[in-house]
Amino acid sequence: MRIHVIQTGTVAIKQVQRQGREAGHPLLNIVLDKNWTEPLPIFAFVIEHPEGLIVVDTGETARVAEPGYFPRWHPYYRYGLEEWVQPEEEIGPQMRAMGLDPKDVRWVLLTHLHTDHAGGLAHFSKAEHLVSRSEYTYAKGTRGLLRGYPSNRWPRWFNPTLIDMQPEPVSSFPASYQVTRAGDVCFVPTPGHTVGHLSVVVTTSDMTYFLAGDASYTQALMLSEKIDGVSLNPATARQTLERVHAFCRATPTVYLPSHDLDTPDRLANRQLAVARSTPTAVMVGAV
Ligand SMILES: [Zn+2]
Repeated sequence: MRIHVIQTGTVAIKQVQRQGREAGHPLLNIVLDKNWTEPLPIFAFVIEHPEGLIVVDTGETARVAEPGYFPRWHPYYRYGLEEWVQPEEEIGPQMRAMGLDPKDVRWVLLTHLHTDHAGGLAHFSKAEHLVSRSEYTYAKGTRGLLRGYPSNRWPRWFNPTLIDMQPEPVSSFPASYQVTRAGDVCFVPTPGHTVGHLSVVVTTSDMTYFLAGDASYTQALMLSEKIDGVSLNPATARQTLERVHAFCRATPTVYLPSHDLDTPDRLANRQLAVARSTPTAVMVGAV
């Protein structure tokens, strides 16, 4: 099994969105904040798995540069988001450059349906798309559009398989959803950033990878359990970060959020989120 990370352009958001202040209304806080983040990478992942090609999130589309692609009347797109994506940075062309055909993808796993995770859907008309039932229900139609999901831009054929968590605990998570028959790729519930947000856990023979989506924008924010500024329910978001942190303490894990500058290095160098504790030295020869 091989995991590739693909950067599909960059995004800037407001500082108060990256790390929330837990007071006031999230959208109002974002619109009023004058401080932008630096341009952050938008990552998606491709997994070469014996059961087929798997894509985790689809990144963003270059169409965001088209006037009117996002609704002008929506304050978030107008005042809270900037994105830069070149056509050749989309996930489809980048996969082809790697010798992988997007049409061969078996599963597209969506952590959530924000634009910078679902913007590249058009490249995967042949795949089965998996998204949590609660996320899809919240994001679809005109209500979804009002809530900040560009549901009007989803391909017409987009008809995802809606998944419900199964009562099968995985470490600190009380439920999960197995994707592969081998049981080495599964979803775990990480609500907070969005109502139906999921993360993907990939287990290889000697390492565990946690593809976090936007469960936290960076590893540091996960380790300090600081929630973001778009979570509608702070208690839920905090519980998710506690569970992710507990997972990383219990299992040597490489933690890979979608907008963390260090994600590619961490993947390449198999850098653990929580360092393994060194075994206590045993005195040899002592009497
Ligand atoms: Zn998001």
